[in-house]
Amino acid sequence: MTPFSLTGQVAMVTGCNKGLGQAMAVALAEAGADVVGVNRSPATDTCARVAALGRRFFDVEAELGRDSPAGIVDEAVALAGQVDILVNNAGIIRRAPALEFSEEDWDDVVDVNLKAAFFLAQQVARHLVERQAPGRIVNIASVLSFQGGIRVPSYTASKSGILGLTRLLANEWAAYGITVNAIAPGYMATDNTQALRDDKNRSAEILGRIPAGRWGKPEDLAGAVVFLCSPAAAYVNGHALAVDGGWLAR
Ligand code: NAP
Repeated sequence: MTPFSLTGQVAMVTGCNKGLGQAMAVALAEAGADVVGVNRSPATDTCARVAALGRRFFDVEAELGRDSPAGIVDEAVALAGQVDILVNNAGIIRRAPALEFSEEDWDDVVDVNLKAAFFLAQQVARHLVERQAPGRIVNIASVLSFQGGIRVPSYTASKSGILGLTRLLANEWAAYGITVNAIAPGYMATDNTQALRDDKNRSAEILGRIPAGRWGKPEDLAGAVVFLCSPAAAYVNGHALAVDGGWLAR
């Protein structure tokens, strides 16, 4: 029995040219999956790392947001033959006080983090249902799916929304053998948190509250994403798995 093997599976990962998405794409390839990267920037490094593991990497170029292309999954299927796993990872953040927050910063964030994630999940689920194949969807949430945060109103709304959506889709699609779960990363050292880490006071404040005593690394998500996509997690559905060094337990 190989409960964590993804051999023979094709995993679609959005925003995997760097950061958390790249680490998860590489982890899924290590577990045996071929990878379809959905990116607006070249994913050269990720492609090389997946290929070095003996897995195939397929590139689908797409700008996700209000008008995400409707044919992302069709293009992936034409390239890779099928899609079994979706990791909705691409995301952005805008920081400003709620009193000054602009409509543009609201729409941009919600369109990428929530709207694009839903409609891509819908594309993947329609493909799975048509194939009568089971599947796995993992949405990248946040500790701000559980907490309010500060100066990030559209981000908190989008990440709280993605957790609710995870639960709704888990309910609706369980009957098709599709599980929908979320990973809630804590404070991870990527471009997304560069501004926080550059702010000496905020950085010290955050670090002081992380029980693990360090910022997370992209590789910290490897085990969680492989688990949720694997046969071992067949009966795990609608769950949010925090990978946060203990932040939420504090
Ligand atoms: P990152 O290094 O900034 O990576 C974000 C990824 O999303 C990049 O590949 C980026 O592509 C892609 N992306 C953004 N907007 C896009 C769009 N409109 N169309 C296509 N791709 C787009 O940040 P990260 O930390 O790895 O974040 C990954 C996910 O984890 C996000 O959903 C984020 O909210 C979530 N998260 C991060 C943390 C953290 O502490 N870092 C904590 C909790 C949750 P480009 O390179 O082209 O911009």
